[in-house]
Amino acid sequence: MQAALHQVLAVRPLSPLAYLLRRERGALEFQPGQYVRLALPGLPAQREYSVYSAPGEPFLELLIREMTGGLLSPRLRRCRPGEALEVEGPFGEFLLREDDPGGAFLFVATGTGIAPFHCFARSYPGLDYLLLHGVARSAELYGAADFDAGRILPCLSREQVGREQGAAFEGRVTDFLRAHPPAAERLFYLCGGCDMIYEIFAILRRRGVPAERIFAEVYF
Ligand SMILES: Cc1cc2nc3c(=O)[nH]c(=O)nc-3n(C[C@H](O)[C@H](O)[C@H](O)COP(=O)(O)OP(=O)(O)OC[C@H]3O[C@@H](n4cnc5c(N)ncnc54)[C@H](O)[C@@H]3O)c2cc1C
Repeated sequence: MQAALHQVLAVRPLSPLAYLLRRERGALEFQPGQYVRLALPGLPAQREYSVYSAPGEPFLELLIREMTGGLLSPRLRRCRPGEALEVEGPFGEFLLREDDPGGAFLFVATGTGIAPFHCFARSYPGLDYLLLHGVARSAELYGAADFDAGRILPCLSREQVGREQGAAFEGRVTDFLRAHPPAAERLFYLCGGCDMIYEIFAILRRRGVPAERIFAEVYF
């Protein structure tokens, strides 16, 4: 596939390490849940990023966490408006099965794995879902205000849950699911690191959830 050149519009920091990279949409058409592959001219690294914004928006936004010592994510953070990005895609099958009679979705994200769910929530108003967002500390709850308050449950693994966090769970997303087993007839979407995904897959399978009802996007 031929890479298209898109201009960076803005880089907005969300926390000491995470940022939103907004760039031109160009002619790119994508479905919620898909990702693109990015590179910078002259840098020998291509990396995948889920689309954070919705297909109806005039720009394309990506939520990126800078990996210390990483090849691309620290450099993307320093992009200036007008700088060119090489973009391939869209790719991926992490798409909502909207016609499923099982109804409510359970979404589970760790860290920037919230990106495709942000795109789902913006793309499908009235969607019936609960999102568990696992992070170490509340400063990493990126974009939480963009979700309906009753539909997102932060799970904080390294911070005590105080009153300022509102409804939140103290522990990892896996702890939450062990303590609160979900109904097996839901559709389950998991996005983030492979350790979390393997662990939740095993929890759900033990609860009798058929593998066909579990969808995963593995970031690393
Ligand atoms: C389909 C897909 C979608 C992705 N979407 C996103 C996204 O929306 N936002 C995002 O920030 N990243 C996303 N990633 C991860 C991203 O592609 C890069 O791996 C990440 O930005 C690090 O690239 P780098 O060149 O800076 O680091 P590298 O030079 O590749 O080295 C970084 C090291 O950290 C590991 N690593 C990568 N990501 C993480 C992480 N989040 N936490 C801990 N360790 C990690 C890698 O395995 C590697 O060992 C996605 C990956 C895939 C496969």
